[in-house]
Amino acid sequence: MFDYQPRPGLLEGRVILVTGAGDGIGRACALSCARLGATLVLAGRTQSKLEAVYDEILAAGGPEPAIVPINLEGAGEADYQQIALGLEENFGRLDGLVQNAGQLGQITPLEQYDPAIWNSVIQVNLNAAFLLSQACLPLLAKSEDASIIFTSSGVGRRGRAFWGAYAVSKFALEGLSQVLADELESQGRVRVNAVNPGATRTRMRAFAFPGEHPDDNPEPEAIMPVYLYLLGPDARGVTGLSLDAQGQGNPQRLSGAQ
Ligand code: NDP
Repeated sequence: MFDYQPRPGLLEGRVILVTGAGDGIGRACALSCARLGATLVLAGRTQSKLEAVYDEILAAGGPEPAIVPINLEGAGEADYQQIALGLEENFGRLDGLVQNAGQLGQITPLEQYDPAIWNSVIQVNLNAAFLLSQACLPLLAKSEDASIIFTSSGVGRRGRAFWGAYAVSKFALEGLSQVLADELESQGRVRVNAVNPGATRTRMRAFAFPGEHPDDNPEPEAIMPVYLYLLGPDARGVTGLSLDAQGQGNPQRLSGAQ
């Protein structure tokens, strides 16, 4: 596992938006960030799940979060501008943007891949991440120390048969992350990195690998160190990387990496 121990209060005063915050890895990320003092903006499709996370954060004594219901499949430029406007009015800036929401699509040969599902996966996994990043860039620029995280995958680095639009979208996210990191590097205020969570016990994983025993994979909480590291001040100057949440990564070796 990525070797990082966040100190209490690490994210105090930071405003962090997580997409897909109602379930799986996004939920764990939102809860972990709130535990370390961040104010969360919980974005996602299923309002009841977001409300449950909201309640959990308050019950644990965390800062009151905000809820942003959004279906990334149907959302357009105007919806993202609206979200940015709301953030501007309520917080005046954004310190963290965790682009986590994702859709699996079909596990099937490209020859049989349904074009409608292809479009939907590319829309949710890639286009939405671009549009939300674009809308939030002015808010991130107002932060003293901002961090964007894109969520990759093993199949976003090495193509694998039958993973279709999901794999292609993850390759593209790696590219989006690198391009944006390079564009923003000279300004030194917004770092941009990709994270591959690795096999993690979630609904998506169970769907993708029905034969796998869920206990064989770590729970989402266990893979949080790399996210917390990248979102907090210890990762200042760390940009343009693609990290493995379950790799042998060590922040000491990354500090100052460009
Ligand atoms: P889950 O299915 O548990 O969670 C996915 C989240 O994305 C849910 O909150 C879901 O909302 C949200 N989401 C999906 N479609 C939309 C949409 N159209 N609009 C808004 N929100 C949407 O999956 P994981 O937690 O496993 O996945 C999180 C990320 O990690 C994904 O990007 C995935 O590709 C990546 N990943 C996961 C791995 C794993 O082993 N688990 C391995 C490698 C990468 P709702 O709850 O409403 O459905």
